[in-house]
Amino acid sequence: MTAQIASSQFLLRSRDPALQSRPAEAGVIGWVASRLLPLVPRSIVHAVASRYVAGEDLAAASAVVRSLNARGYEATLDVLGEDAKDAEVADHTVHDYLDVLDRIRSDSLRCNVSLKLTHLGLRLDRDAAKCRLLRIARRARALGNFVWIDMEDSTVTDATLETYRAVQADGGPVGAVLQSCLKRTVEDAKDLAARGATVRLCKGIYQEPRAIAFRGREEVRMSFLAAAEALLRGPGTFVAFATHDRPLIERCLDLAARMEVPADRFEFQALLGVPIEDVLDRLVSRGIRVRVYVPFGEEWFPYASRRLKENPRIASYVLRQMFTPRGMEAGRRASRQRGGT
Ligand code: FAD
Repeated sequence: MTAQIASSQFLLRSRDPALQSRPAEAGVIGWVASRLLPLVPRSIVHAVASRYVAGEDLAAASAVVRSLNARGYEATLDVLGEDAKDAEVADHTVHDYLDVLDRIRSDSLRCNVSLKLTHLGLRLDRDAAKCRLLRIARRARALGNFVWIDMEDSTVTDATLETYRAVQADGGPVGAVLQSCLKRTVEDAKDLAARGATVRLCKGIYQEPRAIAFRGREEVRMSFLAAAEALLRGPGTFVAFATHDRPLIERCLDLAARMEVPADRFEFQALLGVPIEDVLDRLVSRGIRVRVYVPFGEEWFPYASRRLKENPRIASYVLRQMFTPRGMEAGRRASRQRGGT
């Protein structure tokens, strides 16, 4: 996956009708797709994943970020990986992020970083993971940069927020992520608002138990807006609305306007590969900051597979991609190059 392929695909995507959303279908097709995914040839997952991943190395990722910056977007770089299996892997992740921060500086990119605490060993040793995050955050601080702490599944929500608070108390600069699908999120938003936090608000990609999570599309949106309002009320907060849901983006804009929140207190974020440039361009033209999340690294296959399996809606995109002429051709090409499954 070269940077060139990833960036040109990013710019082409909004013209791909196969990728336009059909939420009603996503439920059934997505459910089927997520169950079929283990049978999908790696080559096809690779072909599909290439639109969501910037490449396998930092040079490729830097090139994608440069092209996004040229289009008026900021970026956030994520080194793919999670659930470090031992301390050595977790330490290696720290070095990767220090390299990314240095590269952002040397290439003069408008970009910060996003990481997962389980990639820093959260499930192995919480204190050690916090120390690793402190090293990254301090380097970011020295370079005038910033670190987003992605939110993972609900088994680590408390540990992630506690680690965020500890590192923020050290001087950060770190931002937390809240998932509006969780019933607890409005309360978490109030707590973070009282701390003047920088928060990315998303719906949440993980399938969570009904007891703790909303399932209805509109319920998740209402929770998103309630959390957004709580956050924007907090003095000194900064909110990143991370969604591709067009009606929800409009409702976030209305909310900010109604609350008279200035444009330097919020931004919109999107994932590399999602066909939404028309909306992002309009936001940029109105002076609203847009940031694109750019994952890269060798761990693309587990990342792509897990994301596809975990989220039936995204899995449905794979299925459609497999059965459109362009998708089938991409699969055949990848198969020829890589020898199939
Ligand atoms: P949806 O209703 O899922 O999607 C709205 C529309 O967007 C769809 O109808 C479709 O048209 C389009 N779309 C969405 N996804 C795709 C896709 N993959 N390909 C093509 N079209 C698509 N989740 C976490 O749990 N933790 C995090 O830390 C986290 N960080 C994120 C950071 C960013 C910058 C973004 C944008 C998302 C992040 N997410 C995270 C994922 C998020 O929680 C959602 O799972 C994801 O964004 C899809 O939800 P949505 O709000 O876009 O709404």
